[in-house]
Amino acid sequence: MQFDDNAELDTSQVQDQRGGGSPGGGSSGGGGGAPSGKMIGGGIVGLIVLVIGLVLGISPNQMGLTGNSTDTSPRTGTAGGLAQSCATGRDANTQEQCRIVAVVNSVQAYWTNEFRQRGGTYQAAPTVFFDRPLRTGCGNADPRTGPFYCPVDRKVYIDLNFFTPLQTQFGAEGGPFAESYVVAHEYGHHVQNLMGTLRAAQDGRTGVTSKSVRVELQADCYAGLWSKNATMTINPATGSPLITAVTPDDIARGLDAAAAVGDDAIQSRAQGRVTPDNWTHGSSFQRQQWFTTGLQTGDMARCDTFG
Ligand SMILES: [Zn+2]
Repeated sequence: MQFDDNAELDTSQVQDQRGGGSPGGGSSGGGGGAPSGKMIGGGIVGLIVLVIGLVLGISPNQMGLTGNSTDTSPRTGTAGGLAQSCATGRDANTQEQCRIVAVVNSVQAYWTNEFRQRGGTYQAAPTVFFDRPLRTGCGNADPRTGPFYCPVDRKVYIDLNFFTPLQTQFGAEGGPFAESYVVAHEYGHHVQNLMGTLRAAQDGRTGVTSKSVRVELQADCYAGLWSKNATMTINPATGSPLITAVTPDDIARGLDAAAAVGDDAIQSRAQGRVTPDNWTHGSSFQRQQWFTTGLQTGDMARCDTFG
């Protein structure tokens, strides 16, 4: 995949809360969604379990949520640093962190347009870069959780280090577009949240026909929608596409990543057998199938995994 060298990146869509940055700054971190969390009460727990494992089929007790994080103080890392490092598409072509910023920009520009065409208004959600335990609106999160979306504070959380185990542990080929698929999948959950799908889909069940699996497959389909439109999505800052090329190899790597995080693939690696009753995200085949549905049709209505 290729970005327009001269495109301007909007780093305000990404909050860098990684350690090692300059200390201080504002205190805009974490837990801002507490009031709405209380409002929904116990349901939140189910909701978190539902969406938080992202691509990982990890079970709730592995997630480290509400765990005993020692440092929950909000860290505002190198927000200025990110803005300086990731100014243009040229930076996105050369630096992973800037590439993710660019993909976040593109995905949100796509959904802004899609909502507008449907007479709605897309509400942007920031992505948080983190690399150590962090307090979120959904409780304390550990980077080992893998990327996730928190519906309470409406933020996507990504540890960029996750992309290494995506290849080494999950066996994905990796590459820029595999990472883009992950980002687009998480924003798919944000879209579901805005549309009320997430809340309606809490049943606390697992298995092939569970709402959890349907939610995850729909997020894969939404990732496919963006993939189809990635090179046609106009960057509001420049009036031209931010992403100038997505190759067949890119798409193959996105599909490959979707397969790598299928429940059956993860189960057979982790436990040597496949137990569909425990599925939360869907099989490799299903995940590829729904990603492909979004990719080929470009039609949001075709992403009805509940029908
Ligand atoms: Zn997910």
